Amino acid sequence: MAELTGRVALITGGGRGIGRAIAVSLAHAGADVAVSGRNADVLDETAGAIRAIGRRAAAIVCDVAEHSQVDAMLIRVKKDLGDPLILVNNAGIAGSAKLSETTDDMWEAMLRVNATGAFFCMRAVVPIMLEAKWGRVVNIASIAARAGAAYIAAYSASKHALLGLTRAVATEVAAKGVTVNAVCPGYVDTEMSDRSAAFISVRTGRNENDARKILEGFSPQKRLMTAEEVAGLATYLCSEAARGINGQGIVLDGGALQG
Ligand code: NDP
Repeated sequence: MAELTGRVALITGGGRGIGRAIAVSLAHAGADVAVSGRNADVLDETAGAIRAIGRRAAAIVCDVAEHSQVDAMLIRVKKDLGDPLILVNNAGIAGSAKLSETTDDMWEAMLRVNATGAFFCMRAVVPIMLEAKWGRVVNIASIAARAGAAYIAAYSASKHALLGLTRAVATEVAAKGVTVNAVCPGYVDTEMSDRSAAFISVRTGRNENDARKILEGFSPQKRLMTAEEVAGLATYLCSEAARGINGQGIVLDGGALQG
């Protein structure tokens, strides 16, 4: 029997990119999986992929920036699949701008989705884990949660906030069978990095291939990470073997950020 058989996982932003890879990986590990996001079509496709693996699935439209929608999402997960004891806060948005060009809207949207959205989800779901005396929260942060970089003030602030939330709640629940960790990837080969390459291309006049090479150059491995690598780590953090790992922000970037 696969290790996570009988567990229910909820993954925000689970329809595409890293979230989809985590949904599929957790399903292979035995979990029934609810995926949420704003786009019903990609969620339905991912739910189909989970069912094809032989697990139950739910596709739930939810904007994590709205706490009433988060509360409604949780009601749906419980009704369709049962109590979620695995929560992956993956939904996120990114954007680059010089500090002086970072608008109020950009700042507020980034903090709202990347940090407050995860807070809404954890506040709703962690009590269920505490009741069950078992739970796993995996927050998809970024190396931008562990180090600053030029032109990403809002993104970096939001991911530092997410890592702070991770560490504080991890300590709060440590004695109760629940772990809370963050994964901090470098650039990952998804639509988000495609948009970053396009942005660099516009700002520098380089073609998109050369812009992509710049992103690859941030890792000493000279490549983008894959969504499947992030998913493998997230799935491990949900295992029994990982029960001693708590409150960590684990970097997955090929070795650029050490220590
Ligand atoms: P994508 O842009 O491919 O996917 C983002 C996901 O987040 C989508 O599923 C999207 O779904 C969802 N999402 C965005 N806003 C909301 C919202 N308000 N409510 C609910 N869901 C939302 O990006 P990635 O897969 O690359 O990124 C996933 C996570 O990984 C993000 O948190 C990102 O910051 C982080 N990350 C990514 C890196 C990269 O290089 N790609 C590097 C480090 C971290 P929909 O649009 O349907 O709502």
